[in-house]
Amino acid sequence: MRQRTIKEKVRIEGIGIHTGERSRVVLHPSEENTGVLFYRNGTYIPVNPENVVGTFLSTDLGSGSEVVKTVEHLLATLHILKITNVVVEVIGGCEVPIMDGSAYAFYTKLKDLVVEQEEEIEPVEPSETFRVNFGEAWIEVSPSESFEVTYEGVFKGFVGNQSFTFRGNPEDVVLARTFCFDEDIELIKNKGLGKGGSLENTLVIGRNGVYNREGLRYEDEPARHKVLDLIGDLYLLGAPFKGRVVSHRGGHTLNYMLVREIYKRSKSGLWSLRG
Ligand code: ZN
Repeated sequence: MRQRTIKEKVRIEGIGIHTGERSRVVLHPSEENTGVLFYRNGTYIPVNPENVVGTFLSTDLGSGSEVVKTVEHLLATLHILKITNVVVEVIGGCEVPIMDGSAYAFYTKLKDLVVEQEEEIEPVEPSETFRVNFGEAWIEVSPSESFEVTYEGVFKGFVGNQSFTFRGNPEDVVLARTFCFDEDIELIKNKGLGKGGSLENTLVIGRNGVYNREGLRYEDEPARHKVLDLIGDLYLLGAPFKGRVVSHRGGHTLNYMLVREIYKRSKSGLWSLRG
């Protein structure tokens, strides 16, 4: 497949869900073979598994003393649009803005600006089926001609069991919001996280329904959001993924275990471009 970048600079501003700080991201068009890189205070942070510094409630990247938190929804958008060369400058707070909790703002700003470049990039493809496990959760990848991601959830509150499969249509996942359960809010706050969280950017789920006045955007919005997160975390591999992925109750930590396993199993050379 051809490498891709964006036609012009894109600016997006908002608050970080965990830090509560305001930040601005500026996405810069980039040359072939640049890869996807974050840039903050003079430091480049290439998107690759080695630069992951946190997976608790968000995926965080770092290099040296610089950290960029909550990269997953932006990475999901770049992955869906197959934007392979872009520098993402983060100004102000150290977190990618949460916007409305979904990837919608990133997607709508970027979708009409994608341009193909001359050089090719090899997608990341598994050559065999394998699983990673963590407690009751597992993720399985298998070879396939298309990119397909399934999430099977066993959720609390009124949501219960829910599953969703992404088969390539961006609109199926880009609107699905970040969610949490009302009974977990105190725990999240006690860990010093969720400082910017509100009903403006988080679907809050209770025993009998959601707290958000506008209700759900999709009946299976939590499962779709989990698919979005997984699409984002898979882009830590630094190139579009081609294959089938099924996650049973996975989260960022298991997603990262999977990414490391794929990275380990991949032929040497595939990664030489990135970082
Ligand atoms: Zn998310």
